[in-house]
Amino acid sequence: MSFCAGLSKGALRVHPDCERILISEEEIRAKVADIGRRISNDYAGKEVLMIGILKGAMIFLADLVREITVPVQYDFMAVSSYGASSKSSGEVRILKDLEYGVEGRHIIVVEDIVDTGLTLNYLAENLKSRDPASVKICTLLDKPSRRIEPVEIDYNGFVIPDEFVVGYGLDYSDRYRNFPYIMVLSPKVYMNEGE
Ligand code: 5GP
Repeated sequence: MSFCAGLSKGALRVHPDCERILISEEEIRAKVADIGRRISNDYAGKEVLMIGILKGAMIFLADLVREITVPVQYDFMAVSSYGASSKSSGEVRILKDLEYGVEGRHIIVVEDIVDTGLTLNYLAENLKSRDPASVKICTLLDKPSRRIEPVEIDYNGFVIPDEFVVGYGLDYSDRYRNFPYIMVLSPKVYMNEGE
């Protein structure tokens, strides 16, 4: 689809900030169900602790846990990245830590998108140092062309090109998170920046 019009809940939806829809609601739903099935199979007989990274992964996590049939708990972390796109050192700060301890637990870190890989690399190392039984990584989107640090992704939704996307939890200035699809933001939104 090359324009941002979609039939949803019986209404034609067009958003002027949308360059094009990259991944439709239907494609997301099918992929989330598929990842949920894979996790349910891989963790048969176990309990899993899903760790959502705020705020972007919230909607993905909410849909994903409802597709998982093994016992699930979930918790959240919030991090802030500094200079992730320009510094290879990639300083990451934890703004909100877990409510649960992870020692001896099977944990899956759930992200919205892996871009440079700096955030997840830091988080995976940080969580491994807390002695969990296992750590796996799940992301809805993967933008491998901008990778600085290698990340081993266990459950990967969609590989996308190097374009700035929003929707389904992903934001620009905290907007567009509630859009049910993933869209490429129109350049005019950036051009207006700072005005
Ligand atoms: P990185 O992998 O570079 O450490 O950071 C990943 C984070 O960068 C994501 O959680 C997200 O907040 C942000 N990010 C990277 N690419 C995009 C994108 O295309 N759209 C949006 N909305 N956020 C992105």
